Amino acid sequence: MGSQLNDAQLDWPVAGHHWAVQLLQRTLAPASDVCGRQGPSHAYLFLGIAQVGKTTLARAFAQALLCTQPGERPCGVCRACRLFQHGNHPDFRILQPLDKEGAVDRANGELRAEQAATIIHDVVLKPVEGQWRIFLVQDVHTANPSFLNKILKTLEEPPPQAILVLTALDRASVLPTIVSRCQTLELRPVDTATIQHALQAQWRASADQAAVLAHLANGRLGWAVDQLRFPERGQERLQTLETLWRLMAADRIERLAFAESTAASRNSRHLFSMLETWSLWWRDVLLVQAGCADACANIDQREQLQRVAGLLDRELVRSYLLTLRRIEGYLHHTVNTRLALDVLMLKLPRFTEGPVV
Ligand SMILES: [Zn+2]
Repeated sequence: MGSQLNDAQLDWPVAGHHWAVQLLQRTLAPASDVCGRQGPSHAYLFLGIAQVGKTTLARAFAQALLCTQPGERPCGVCRACRLFQHGNHPDFRILQPLDKEGAVDRANGELRAEQAATIIHDVVLKPVEGQWRIFLVQDVHTANPSFLNKILKTLEEPPPQAILVLTALDRASVLPTIVSRCQTLELRPVDTATIQHALQAQWRASADQAAVLAHLANGRLGWAVDQLRFPERGQERLQTLETLWRLMAADRIERLAFAESTAASRNSRHLFSMLETWSLWWRDVLLVQAGCADACANIDQREQLQRVAGLLDRELVRSYLLTLRRIEGYLHHTVNTRLALDVLMLKLPRFTEGPVV
């Protein structure tokens, strides 16, 4: 069986994370095939940065568990697989953070007490189609305390047919009492070549497009796929960079006006996406200054990176990058966006096409 696992994993729609795929596939093997097989655990915790592939892996695992065919699973053609692929499998539930109106909101929403009540009610029911009832609980780091209190008992004594797969950003963001009850899989960022290949093979990106996105993705295939699905986001990145260059040449009044209007728009998705784009760009400037231009993420911006890297003091760049990261962290915990953006604008290095002032 061992040698077949490498081939079988190609059937899972998961790019990278080979060790995790193999580990989960081993729990699917028929009992007689593998010595010491223990079957799946009743609770898993998949950890990793946003869009690294936690949910994709969890869904592939769930489909494989529910697939009713012998041999390599998921087969993709049995009734269970078809139900799963259409989002209709009665033994699979996905719970996601919700806003106050009950709409899915993974940026600012919470897992709420009533969702835990749903799990507690459903988890004891017999499976409708197969052997398991599987609950995928996304972003457990967003759970409010009453959700966690309610779910703890289920994690402590899960019914034999229940499998819970929780996802979260990192270990520190989840209560130790939850972590200790789960089998934990920590997913690392996916390497650039794997992302590039997946974008071309599975998502039909052009070679150039795949190369640029894979370098910008920072190990997150999901992020790169989103850029393909929503081309306006790629446009947004270029506009964000142009704004940065304009502000670098701008005076204090224009910079503070930008801080004011950005804070007033209250668009946190746009704000954090802008900060991420800027951080990555400044990191690239520093890499060019350190003689590591090959490691840059913004491979379509090499000319501008070289120009800025050549004219700005390295210590100034390093210090601004630290400020950017500090402000980004601060903005996750404060409502005073205006003050944070004022600081960011006033410390922004000045750069015009001519000599630096
Ligand atoms: Zn199947």
